[in-house]
Amino acid sequence: MSETESTTTPQDGEVVNTFRTLKDLINFASSKNILKGMAEMGESGIAEALPFPFLALVGQNEMKLALMLGLVNPNVGGVLLVGPRGTGKTTAVRSLLELLPNVERSTCYYGCTPEDVESGGIDAICPECAQKYAEGKSLTAPDRVRLVELPLNSRLEDVVGGIDDRAAIHERMRVRRGILAQADRNLLYIDEINLLSDEVMDAILDAAAQGTYTVRRGPVSATYRARFVLIGSMNPEEGKLRPQILDRFGLRLIVRGLEDAAERLEAYRRVQAYLTNPRAMIANYTEESGQAAAEIQEARKRLRSVGIPDKLATKAIHLIQNMGIDSLRAEITWFEAARAYTAADGRTQVSPTDLNAVAPMCLRLRRSSFMTEYFKDQAGEEEEMQGLLKKLQ
Ligand SMILES: [Zn+2]
Repeated sequence: MSETESTTTPQDGEVVNTFRTLKDLINFASSKNILKGMAEMGESGIAEALPFPFLALVGQNEMKLALMLGLVNPNVGGVLLVGPRGTGKTTAVRSLLELLPNVERSTCYYGCTPEDVESGGIDAICPECAQKYAEGKSLTAPDRVRLVELPLNSRLEDVVGGIDDRAAIHERMRVRRGILAQADRNLLYIDEINLLSDEVMDAILDAAAQGTYTVRRGPVSATYRARFVLIGSMNPEEGKLRPQILDRFGLRLIVRGLEDAAERLEAYRRVQAYLTNPRAMIANYTEESGQAAAEIQEARKRLRSVGIPDKLATKAIHLIQNMGIDSLRAEITWFEAARAYTAADGRTQVSPTDLNAVAPMCLRLRRSSFMTEYFKDQAGEEEEMQGLLKKLQ
C-alpha cells in the first residue's frame, strides 16, 4: 500500500479542520490519499446502503461544484449532467447523501404543512393534523433532505399520484401521493432523463417550476408541494433531449472521463478500496463529510442575506445578450448560482469573480443549440437537393 503515492498527496499528519469555500472542499477531496489510514481490508459490504463518499471522488470538479451549489440554493433550477457512461455521474449524485442538509418537513403521511392551512384553511389538511394544529402542536419536524430516485418506467400516475376511490372520505386522504410529493424539499434524481416519456417529463418540469402541483379527478382534488432540486443525467448517444427541456435545467455539465492518467489511477484505487471494504473507506471520510455538511447548512442560512449589486447584474445581462441567449432562465440561474457560491465563501455580496466561477455551467448549451442544429441540417438538405436537381437538367 505504501507505494501508492499520488502526485497530489497532502503532507503526512496534515489536519484540515475547516473548509472556507466549496472550492477548498473540492480541492481537498481530490487530493486526499485515502489509502493512508485505511482500516484493515477484507470484509465487503452492501454498496447501495453505503454510498461512495462524495469527497473521495477524483477530479470532475465542475460537476461536484454544481451539485453542491444545488444543495446550497435550490433556486439554481436543477442540474443536468451530460456525458457518456462510466464517468461517475450516478455515483456522484448518490454520494451526496452524506452531505445533505436538514429542512423542516411535514410529519404526516399526507404531507400536511402549516402553509396549507394559511393558503387553504383548516380543511386543507387531514383531520389528524387539523387537531394538532388546533392544539398548537407542530406539523413539521427537522429532517434530512433525501435523495429520491425516479424509477425507470415510471408512469404518470406514479409520478403525480392518483385517486383512491376506496379510501376515507376526507378529500386529502383520497389522493395517493406520487413521487413528486415525496420529492418535496428533497433531491429528485432522474437517470437517463432523455428516455423519459414526454408526459411524465412535462409533469415533473411543471411541478419543479411552480413548486406545487394539483391532482384532480372529478370533484376530488389535492394540491401538493413539490419544491425539489431536479438532477438529471443523460448519455447523448442514447437520444436527444428536447430543447425546451434543456432550457429548463439551470446548471449544465458536460461530464467527460478523467483526462489525466494519474487521476484515473487514483480514481481506480479509491474504487478498489471501496469495493474491498466500503465501511473502512467511508469511515476515512466521515469527519470531513460531517464538516462539509455543516458548511452547506451554514451557507444555506447565509444565502438569504447575499445580494448582487445592480451595476454588476446589468453588466452580466449585457454579456448574456451579447452571447445571443434569449432565455431569461440564463440570468436567473447565473445569479442564483453566484449567490450560492458567495454564501459558501462566507460573504454576502456577489463579486465579478463569483460570477466568473459559475458562468460556464449556467450559460453553456443555451445559445439555441436546437436552432443552430436545425439550420445546419437544413443547409445539408438544401445542398443535397440542389445536387439532385442538377442531375435533372
Ligand atoms: Zn396530515
